Amino acid sequence: MLKVGLTGGIASGKTTIARLLVEKGAYHIDFDELAHDVEKKGTPVWEQIVRNFGPGILLEDGTIDRRKLAQIVFKNKEKLNQLNQIVHPAVLEKWYKCLKDIADQNAQAIVLNDVPLLFEVGLQGLFDHIILIYSPPDIQIKRLMERNGYTEEEAKQRLAAQMSMEEKVPLADTVFDNSLPLEEAKTRVDILWEKLTRLQKDKYLERRNST
Ligand code: ATP
Repeated sequence: MLKVGLTGGIASGKTTIARLLVEKGAYHIDFDELAHDVEKKGTPVWEQIVRNFGPGILLEDGTIDRRKLAQIVFKNKEKLNQLNQIVHPAVLEKWYKCLKDIADQNAQAIVLNDVPLLFEVGLQGLFDHIILIYSPPDIQIKRLMERNGYTEEEAKQRLAAQMSMEEKVPLADTVFDNSLPLEEAKTRVDILWEKLTRLQKDKYLERRNST
């Protein structure tokens, strides 16, 4: 199994490129979905979050108001660490379970792990290979305005709140330039898929030779 970390910035095209790679045969795990799952109402993580942050962070139906929680931790590093310490172990446990299910089906799977904050949280060590979906800021802003209906000012603010693409580039193994039109991106996904297939084979042979 080849564990690939997929990351980028807001509206850089992670979802779009992941979908194209899944069409090629990749398996896909979305870390945001894992986090949503472990925080569902009544789970041990939900209980710990309510205990630590108070019932004020719940919506009327008892589910966690993720927007409110994000606002709290955005401004307070200590609270962010507290939240991460509650959520991360449960997400990782769920992730290992997903990987095992995939490995049971296909030991040579290429697994794309969609992790928006991969570098910010420092999860590089979990993966064999890391792909950064790169789009320059002007294109991110344009896509945010089109997709989310933001004004230019709002889009710029969202971008400014994130780690910049330039800081992320040196941390990635592969930088996928997604500034080109979709048709061209598709051709480059073909090349990327060949590369991942080669890496998967190399890893498999390496493991066989060392046993
Ligand atoms: P977020 O993390 O903010 O959810 P994302 O990185 O998953 O975003 P996408 O949702 O894949 O980004 O793409 C953002 C927008 O840009 C979408 O509307 C998508 O259709 C469009 N888009 C992505 N890649 C391209 C491309 N190569 N050419 C044109 N439009 C694109």
